[in-house]
Amino acid sequence: MYLRRWRTIHAEAEAFAQDSDSEPELNMEESSEYSTSGSEGRGSNDEPESSDFQSEISYEEEPVSSDSEDEFHEVPEEDEQQSFTEKLASWCSRNKHTRKSTNELLAMLREEGLPVPKDSRTLQKTPRSITVEEKCGGQYKYFGLEFGIRNVIEDNQNFISQNLNSINLKINIDGVPLFKSSSMQFWPILCSFENFKPFLVSIFYGNSKPSSVSEFLEDFLEEYSQLKTNGLQIEDARLNIKVRIKAFICDAPARALIKGIKGHTGYYACERCTIKGYWKNNRIILYSKDECSLRTDEEFSLVVYDNHQTSVSPLIEHGIVSKHFV
Ligand SMILES: [Zn+2]
Repeated sequence: MYLRRWRTIHAEAEAFAQDSDSEPELNMEESSEYSTSGSEGRGSNDEPESSDFQSEISYEEEPVSSDSEDEFHEVPEEDEQQSFTEKLASWCSRNKHTRKSTNELLAMLREEGLPVPKDSRTLQKTPRSITVEEKCGGQYKYFGLEFGIRNVIEDNQNFISQNLNSINLKINIDGVPLFKSSSMQFWPILCSFENFKPFLVSIFYGNSKPSSVSEFLEDFLEEYSQLKTNGLQIEDARLNIKVRIKAFICDAPARALIKGIKGHTGYYACERCTIKGYWKNNRIILYSKDECSLRTDEEFSLVVYDNHQTSVSPLIEHGIVSKHFV
């Protein structure tokens, strides 16, 4: 069962990565390998999985630890690419290539159609493998905010030519149930800016929402805080780009989690005003004849709404308040 869970997060994270098209390749050491074709034989003793998701991707059933592994299946192409990039990265650093010469080499390889990064820094940052940590009552992987932003900029060279000196990030956090029949869920943090494709900053996987919102957000907020203070340097273009979060786009349960407020079924759930709802026909009705005072970001930051705020949101110390939520 454990391995199956690993494969599931592995595959889903891969799907996310492919969706956003700018993510590091995933290669989890702890997980067994999987194949998207399912035609390699050894997985055939697995009982069929019931969900649509599982039926799209089939797996090698056994962990790949046996000596005979090489006889039984070919190394997937992605692994080859990654190991080539890895080899290239260590060759360049072993031979003390400058950034300029590495970039020239990368440009030549790209001309030949090889899928290598454009910039030596990205090459050196190419993850050797991805390890998942236990966090917030589930499994968690942090991919990186700056890493994602740089990938997007590198893939969109006209961004540099626009000479922008600031970027506004849109952050999307939602819980994504995996199966109708279980409580297993993903909580990805996705980021986008301008009109570029979103990329994955981190992902949590567990049988409930993250147990601690500060743990769930800490890597992300720490890196954001550094980017906010120092900006993002693009040395080649002599740019220092100001990075700001412009908006959080979240559904109601995610807003309740990360803002540290009552769920949308609470009497004081309204995020705009201090109305007290009432219970009718199994739901909370937010209506009052009396006028209700509007909530303010200042008071929210001071955590004065004790019947609305259930915890001190870690966003507050980063200056992220209600106006950031759309
Ligand atoms: Zn209201």
